[in-house]
Amino acid sequence: MRLLRTVFFAFLGLAATRLDVHAADDARRPNFVVIFCDDLGYGDLACFGHPTIATPNLDRMAAEGMKFTQFYSAAPVCTPSRAALMTGRLPLRNGMCSNKRRVLFPDSKGGIPAAEITIAEALKASGYATACVGKWHLGHLPQYLPTSNGFDHYFGIPYSNDMDRVNDGPKGREAFWNPEVRYWNVPLMRNEEIVERPADQTTITRRYTEEATKFIRDNKDSPFFLYLPHSMPHVPLFRSPEFADTSRRGLFGDVIEEIDGSVGQVLETLRELQLDDNTLVFFTSDNGPWLIFDEQGGSAGLLRDGKGSTWEGGMREPTLAWWPGQIRPGSVSRDVASTMDIFATLHALAGIDLPADRVLDSHDLTPVLQGTGPSSREALFYYRAYQLMAVRRGPWKVHLMTQDAYGPGSREPQKHDPPLLFNLDHDPGEKLNVADKNSAVIQMLLAEIAAHQATLVPAASELEF
Ligand code: MG
Repeated sequence: MRLLRTVFFAFLGLAATRLDVHAADDARRPNFVVIFCDDLGYGDLACFGHPTIATPNLDRMAAEGMKFTQFYSAAPVCTPSRAALMTGRLPLRNGMCSNKRRVLFPDSKGGIPAAEITIAEALKASGYATACVGKWHLGHLPQYLPTSNGFDHYFGIPYSNDMDRVNDGPKGREAFWNPEVRYWNVPLMRNEEIVERPADQTTITRRYTEEATKFIRDNKDSPFFLYLPHSMPHVPLFRSPEFADTSRRGLFGDVIEEIDGSVGQVLETLRELQLDDNTLVFFTSDNGPWLIFDEQGGSAGLLRDGKGSTWEGGMREPTLAWWPGQIRPGSVSRDVASTMDIFATLHALAGIDLPADRVLDSHDLTPVLQGTGPSSREALFYYRAYQLMAVRRGPWKVHLMTQDAYGPGSREPQKHDPPLLFNLDHDPGEKLNVADKNSAVIQMLLAEIAAHQATLVPAASELEF
């Protein structure tokens, strides 16, 4: 009996020790928040140079953290960009792009393939609490929803806020100039259920923020991953009553200033719970501004063109990273980086091995964030659906093809032989083609492309059925 008791208490002690170790590990493992806007331009924040939009919370985030001046989305449009963020892989590797349909639509039957490993799945398997609050757009059928792809919780709209257009509203783009909620029959979902339809978009940013801060509070004692993809500032634009007509930039400015307020609440919640020195927060966007919407679309600032295009304005995003105690306040990274790099970065910081059975396009940004060295990323590939349009290495960007941003007047893709070449360090606006004087640089970039394409196995499109 005595022996049994000894064994029993020894077992309890061992179990307790294990729990303590696990708890201690968890206490050290950082939390992650990824705030992802929709169609935000490079020039739409005060801390990236906008003259009339006020973004005091994002400005403070930049002052306390790191500003990335050369950070890119993986595609110039929504669904492919989000798939790449979630998987650390170019959209054509997982079939989340199409030459026929830009994104998933309410009649689509496809979505993110089950064989893909999302960052949420990796973190959840390693003990993280996970939530997706906002616009998903990686498939709205049950098997594709966030709760089937590594997220414990989901609250948001499954696709874009301009879908499910009703027929009795104003025609064409007219509906966007004075948008009313009832013109778009978009569902709002909680986990797998539709809880509101049409989603009341006038309060959607506020409600996302409430949901996000509640998730942080509910999970303050465990490591967590919060993915907060705002529906805004994708048109149609809506904002809560307290932000109506407050910005000098008009409706678009109101929307950005509400997102700024949301960021402020998220960071304040982390400070209040004393999680700020153990939480890495990224702020960025899925693609550049949707320029055909005139005043309702954003601005790429000094960059050329916008959403849909592989000119810089379509894919370079205003990006911030914040982690008090780990990131030097007020630092600026001019390294070329990608939303796809978040995948490897979060794996590294959470102590999870990267999947070894697939090609990744993701580079760990930890040395950049902690100021210990450069990113290992050497090249950046610009795709429009399955078409490789351009590649960047160092300051050099070569365009094999170009196409204007989405719009009624957008021209057919133009092939360039010889390719166009720009020095983005000298000419971020891509105005001066310097191909004539730099044929050796072009040869180097063409070799880079050949090496990239030699290993590439594009997957069948998930967007075409
Ligand atoms: Mg978008």
